[in-house]
Amino acid sequence: MTDANAQPLYDTFARADLRFERGEGVWLVTEDGDRYLDFAAGIAVNSLGHSHPHLVETLKSQAEKLWHVSNIYEIPGQRRLGQRLVDSTFADKVFFTNSGAEALECAIKTARRYHYVNGNPERFRIITFEGAFHGRTLATIAAGGQLKYLEGFGPKVEGFDQVPFGDEKALKAAIGPETAAILIEPIQGEGGVRSVPDDELRALRKLCDDEGLLLILDEVQSGVGRTGKLFAHEWSGIQPDIMAVAKGIGGGFPLGACLATAEAAKGMTAGVHGTTFGGNPLAMAVGNAVLDVILEEGFLEHVQKIALVMKQGLASISDRYPNVISEVRGRGLLMGLKSVVPNTTMVQALRDEHMLTVGAGDNVIRLLPPLVATEEEARDALSRIEAAAERLSLTATQKSA
Ligand SMILES: *Cc1c(COP(=O)(O)O)cnc(C)c1O
Repeated sequence: MTDANAQPLYDTFARADLRFERGEGVWLVTEDGDRYLDFAAGIAVNSLGHSHPHLVETLKSQAEKLWHVSNIYEIPGQRRLGQRLVDSTFADKVFFTNSGAEALECAIKTARRYHYVNGNPERFRIITFEGAFHGRTLATIAAGGQLKYLEGFGPKVEGFDQVPFGDEKALKAAIGPETAAILIEPIQGEGGVRSVPDDELRALRKLCDDEGLLLILDEVQSGVGRTGKLFAHEWSGIQPDIMAVAKGIGGGFPLGACLATAEAAKGMTAGVHGTTFGGNPLAMAVGNAVLDVILEEGFLEHVQKIALVMKQGLASISDRYPNVISEVRGRGLLMGLKSVVPNTTMVQALRDEHMLTVGAGDNVIRLLPPLVATEEEARDALSRIEAAAERLSLTATQKSA
């Protein structure tokens, strides 16, 4: 039997009817030549925008040399990228993956192994927070705890205890003799751009120290310059024991990493974990090229400057259209607009202005521009948001009249 609507792909994505053919910086161009201002950036992936010359050149020249060798051999690009990450963070050790979920899997396994080799195999439970998103593998949907992602996939992977976001009492009550770690996003991305205040992150660090727990940060979305620091937790002055990174570090090439202190990673010895593709020469070349740009002097200051332009402009728009946008959230270029109208309506209204954004939980839309966006492009974005807000505001007023 053939179905007229049959198409070969899983129906897991509700896709917009847009077909992009190429990208240039902050712009995406459709097959028909329509240009869209890309403030979704592949959901915080295209950190340097589209077709960045340094990334294109790097990928091309690596493609002519070597694509893949197994992790049973030395991979010099891996050593180099690992060392650069170690030099610029809290970490002593790095494991490379292909995705955020795999980086989280490594983080979870690292935390469990740490307690195991310390002679406490019973300490395997990890505390997570409502609204979290950590990926779509069986363990990471259990960690994220969202019913819509768990439903129908059999028993939830054991060992994750979820507490309400920002509820210190519930958090303390959830800690028991089996607790191994606390896992948190410094800013919940998918959950609605909800930031953990700096003093709460510091309190979490202290709580972990007092209770002998490891602190795992999920910086898959908030990391690699997105907030105007290399990693979002740097704003609070704390350091995690383990951290998952992905998205922006590959600039569009599938790449993730799990970073850890030597102490936290001490159980991850030869043979206990592995990957076929993780850290392959193509990915390492691109990851190193992304860092070339992000670690350049002045780059993070640029992100902070553009973020300030956006923040001030968005505050003004939300002041003038409170019946459309009730709150501006986020840090750096991980921005959220709390929408009064359904967020899908706002995403569509912006698409009508040829601007791309992405929805999030809590009726928020996310603005995640490439970090290379200029001030002029930020102002262009603001005028498109203003135009959409004005139209939505008129409709809302007409409806209530
Ligand atoms: C996207 C994301 C993940 C999952 O990354 P994948 O590459 O899709 O597996 C995990 N955590 C956070 C915070 C994310 O934003």
